[in-house]
Amino acid sequence: MQSEEVREKFIKFFEKRGHKVVPSSSLLPTDPSVLLTTAGVQQFKPYYTREADAMHDFGSLNVVSIQKSFRTTDIDEIGDETHLTLFEMLGNFSFGGYFKKEAIEYAHELVTKEFGLQIDYVTVFKGDKDVPEDVETQKIWKDIDSGIEIKKMGREENFWGPTGNEGPCGPTTEIFVNGIEIWNLVFNEFYQRQDGKLEKLAIPGVDTGSGLERVVAVLDGKDNIFDTDLLSPIIQKVKELAPEVEERIARIFADHLRSSCFLIADGIRPSNKEAGYVLRKLIRRVIAYEVQLDIHGDLLSEIPTVVVDKFHKVYPNLTKEEILKVIGVEKKKFKVALSRGLKELALRKELTIQDAFFIYETYGLPFELIVEMAPRDLGKKLRREDFEKEFEKHQETSRAGKERKFGGHGMLLDTGELKAADEEELKKVTRLHTATHLMQAALKKVLGDDVSQRGSDITVERTRFDFTFERKLTDEEITKVENLVNEVVEKDLPFQYEEMSLEEAKKSGALFFFKGKYPPKVKVYYSGDSLESAFSKELCGGPHVTHTGEVGKIKIGKQEAVAEGVRRLRATVQ
Ligand code: ATP
Ligand code: MG
Repeated sequence: MQSEEVREKFIKFFEKRGHKVVPSSSLLPTDPSVLLTTAGVQQFKPYYTREADAMHDFGSLNVVSIQKSFRTTDIDEIGDETHLTLFEMLGNFSFGGYFKKEAIEYAHELVTKEFGLQIDYVTVFKGDKDVPEDVETQKIWKDIDSGIEIKKMGREENFWGPTGNEGPCGPTTEIFVNGIEIWNLVFNEFYQRQDGKLEKLAIPGVDTGSGLERVVAVLDGKDNIFDTDLLSPIIQKVKELAPEVEERIARIFADHLRSSCFLIADGIRPSNKEAGYVLRKLIRRVIAYEVQLDIHGDLLSEIPTVVVDKFHKVYPNLTKEEILKVIGVEKKKFKVALSRGLKELALRKELTIQDAFFIYETYGLPFELIVEMAPRDLGKKLRREDFEKEFEKHQETSRAGKERKFGGHGMLLDTGELKAADEEELKKVTRLHTATHLMQAALKKVLGDDVSQRGSDITVERTRFDFTFERKLTDEEITKVENLVNEVVEKDLPFQYEEMSLEEAKKSGALFFFKGKYPPKVKVYYSGDSLESAFSKELCGGPHVTHTGEVGKIKIGKQEAVAEGVRRLRATVQ
């Protein structure tokens, strides 16, 4: 089954069941809190909160759409089997018309009967301290198919939202076919208030999203989205024009140029901020790779031509002339920036990873190009890993608050560890910063002295802490760490610092980051009445809260391994 049939079947299926068909909205959302439209639900948000009236606007409480969606957060995933920056999201939505039972039954019927696919398994929310397990969803799945495999997952995987610091949110259930996640059903049954408390929504809502490209892939027996009819003409053309490039780069070319076409058609122009910056980055990445790999085929005009031919029937606003003109102008500009960047590089006597990142950000030269073109072999000692860490630091910032608009710009404070855009965010990250100190101290108390910091990164939403430890932490250990920290929070100990020489500080037993660069005179921040009796002490520049009670209760979320012997924890504060 190919894309056109899937589009039609999806829409018809829901239309027959009382859903009003709503066209895709622009990639440039009216909602000012996001940079680009990331999901089908975007245009429907006001209907969940009753700021808008679905009966009035659609004549129905249920709608169906195929939405152009863009995920800047997935740029680094491009090249794998299942991610694109731009994809089309099939979705059905209900603003109080129906809830879990109907939504799951519809999805099951469509996937297994209409599409004839076999579900590998589904996931459901297993519950946590704040929200109970979603037993209702499990029961509905069991009633439909008693043999279905149900995997219970945590908040990271199976609880959605809210975007920003308040709004509708709720548990989700995801459907997997041939190892690929094809559909996510979100049940908005709560409203998260600004203070973090959840309230039951009077009228719960349904919001689902299914990637068209992924559905076509599994229907067509393909193991990756680039082999579907949606992407294969594009990737084939790329390979024709650049036969030597590796698969990952070919996919990047296909994805980035296709996305660029859609962004341009929706009125976005390359610039240094917001959506324009995203577009610029996509185009420049392609050009830089072209230069680096010495590709002579004219990707920049031939690929958009294929894209328009393939998609203009569904998206008539895609026009070759406009797209080629915009890309052409950007190409000219970048050639200038590219040569400026190369000049800047040539002037460097030293090249740190931060320098490399600066050049990447300012002139748009990708890391590989910087390494290759740096003079006197300066690039040789730069490691991709470190660059990625630097990149991630910045990316995490723009991820904070799910694609929030400031996206790494206009920071008040950026200590490398801690970033904030305004007073309110500064307060929040400061609490998370202190929480990180307490957590490190607690980790050492629970796991022993082998624990030592390998990195940390704090955004408005969470702190992320990397440390040495050989194995996965048990649930008990995590609970112990949480409890220890929360006891200290409860005690509301003073959180203060003493200034001393670096030597004295290290002697005092204060923790320090082995990679950190410290001046001869340093501050040791500690929790408690004296340095000797402190629960935590650590070399640090601040800022911190003045009493541990201000931190609020912490909760440890996702645990990961980031390298051999290095664990990563994320924690949030209440
Ligand atoms: P994944 O974990 O695979 O990145 P996700 O959990 O981020 O997916 P959702 O936010 O739930 O995905 O989006 C709903 C659906 O949209 C997914 O089930 C998937 O089919 C599709 N989808 C999500 N991100 C992408 C992407 N970058 N490219 C293509 N399809 C995607
Ligand atoms: Mg994703």
